[in-house]
Amino acid sequence: MSDQPTLRDRAIDAIARDLNAGRFWLPTEGRPVAADAVLALVAVELETSQRRSIRIQTLLDETRDRIRKLHRPVEHMGRVICAERSAYCGESTDNPPAPAPCPTITALNAAA
Ligand SMILES: [Zn+2]
Repeated sequence: MSDQPTLRDRAIDAIARDLNAGRFWLPTEGRPVAADAVLALVAVELETSQRRSIRIQTLLDETRDRIRKLHRPVEHMGRVICAERSAYCGESTDNPPAPAPCPTITALNAAA
């Protein structure tokens, strides 16, 4: 069992402190009720925020995967080149062969 006060305990203490500072009165039994009401709202907001964060992370991961797929290394004439920068078409390149990993993949890996 932890000696650390729970979030609920700290909320009750904060309610008591701020009520006293503002010279408001609330029965002691009302402090946990007020704390629970606020914490219930915070829990909903936190869950919404966590779901949004997971969606953003998923979009970011999918975008990175698409970029890595575009800039995939391929072997061409004995060299490993970036398929995207070299405009690799399966057998030939439309652009001068660009070495892999290219600056896009290097930057993507540095940001991960
Ligand atoms: Zn590339």
